[in-house]
Amino acid sequence: MQHFVGGAFVQDEPAAWADVHDPARGAVASRVALGDAGAVDQAVKVALDAQAAWAEESLGVRQQVMLEFIRLVERSRDELAELVTGEHGKTLADARAEVNAGLDVAKFAAGIPHLLKGDYSENVSRGVDTYSIRQPLGVVAGITPFNFPVMVPMWMFPIAVACGNAFVLKPSEKDPSASNRLAELALEAGLPAGVLNVVHGSAPAVDALLAHPDVAAVSFVGSTPVARHVYETAAKHGKRVQALGGAKNHLVVLPDADLDAAADALVSAAYGSAGERCMAISVAVAVGGVGDALRDRLVERIGRLSTADGHDEGTDMGPLVTADHLRRVSGYVQAGADAGADLVVDGRDVRVPGRENGFFLAPTLLDHVRPDMTVYTDEIFGPVLSMLRVDTLDEAVGLINGGEYGNGVSLFTRDGVAARKFQHTVQAGMVGLNVPIPVPIPYFPFGGWKHSLFGDSGQYGEDGIRFFTRRKVVTSRWAPSAGSRVDMRFPA
Ligand code: NAD
Repeated sequence: MQHFVGGAFVQDEPAAWADVHDPARGAVASRVALGDAGAVDQAVKVALDAQAAWAEESLGVRQQVMLEFIRLVERSRDELAELVTGEHGKTLADARAEVNAGLDVAKFAAGIPHLLKGDYSENVSRGVDTYSIRQPLGVVAGITPFNFPVMVPMWMFPIAVACGNAFVLKPSEKDPSASNRLAELALEAGLPAGVLNVVHGSAPAVDALLAHPDVAAVSFVGSTPVARHVYETAAKHGKRVQALGGAKNHLVVLPDADLDAAADALVSAAYGSAGERCMAISVAVAVGGVGDALRDRLVERIGRLSTADGHDEGTDMGPLVTADHLRRVSGYVQAGADAGADLVVDGRDVRVPGRENGFFLAPTLLDHVRPDMTVYTDEIFGPVLSMLRVDTLDEAVGLINGGEYGNGVSLFTRDGVAARKFQHTVQAGMVGLNVPIPVPIPYFPFGGWKHSLFGDSGQYGEDGIRFFTRRKVVTSRWAPSAGSRVDMRFPA
């Protein structure tokens, strides 16, 4: 798989190649080019050339391209889902849902003529008007994680290009195919060659983007250590940067909650996509003695889940993305058990017939987890749910607010007073009330607090428009100059 630059696949031999795996089979499926500073420079140059003309296109043309892109992605939904399942491992149904979530952002971006409207104040002084306009930044870059190879790139580039920028995407090297296909579809939709480019690679390609003088802004989504590095390095090079990081999302269950609904929500949000979602629930907090009843319901539901190849009909959960990741997640399960947590369901010995080499770990449940255990403190990013028990809602909120991350959080209750208090005091960017995965729809921004987001701007929504444009405020006088005179005072 090669870089896609200037509307075509690059022919030059890359600096290096990396293997891409089919995680259900545990076998190498293809290989991907690993770009170096030269490959990045080439893509940025092409993007810079293309951007000048693209920024002059009318809003109507940009909207039309976006509408056609939406049509083509809808037409290609199954094909894109197949690419995602083949390299990431999630089920086809989940992969199709991911494509739909990406499409929602493209649909938002299709409203660009409205979204880019500025403000206008007439007669701020006699015959003087003031107005604001938003202009593109130039060439902007997006660096994306493995866990949503369609959706996260589509959080970024539809808005960036609709705003008149050119885009260089550096997707995850673990599942790179979907990005190339999206770039081909954008070209087919009428986006001029060079406006959307894909450079594959790992840290060297990222670092080259962060230092490149012609990259005006960097949008990053990935783990917290890399997000911090991207934020600091891009800022040091004078770039605008938003860097979304990892998470440890809690779902709190109060004694008055509908326990069946809470258990359904926990199982869906903890084990969907094998827990490889930044909005996955990895901690259940049972309040006021509800723990045993909740645990029974979780165990019963987990027993009905099927872990298998994501291509197969009836599979609830596919494999983890790589063998290394499987080892890491399994290590956390052992560490939790060694530290004294109750390993209620152990998914480590799962066997999938015909897929013996796949990177599988079945749903795993640890109970009586304590806040000092690594299974609680660290982001595991796998199908491992930890349950803690506390006496009060205040204790639950204290637990959450004491943590490193602040991405998503959820409360299940029938008590509106408790819900309002939770929403008001909890330190997280996205809050669910009887909703386990509170991902904002694209006309609200997506983003966490604390180490889940470095920078002050989330993805998409109004934040996306602001991030990918800069504002200019014009003060104009188109009035007869009869009264003109020298005036040395500061204008007021
Ligand atoms: P990752 O941080 O390993 O990789 C993300 C991107 O950074 C990839 O493109 C990768 O090639 C690049 N990269 C990796 N190491 C690098 C380094 N040392 N220097 C420069 N670039 C580097 O993340 P991942 O494993 O692909 O994705 C999972 C992580 O992403 C989880 O922590 C998850 O919570 C997070 N995530 C967060 C959000 C959010 O919105 N907050 C959304 C999705 C995923």
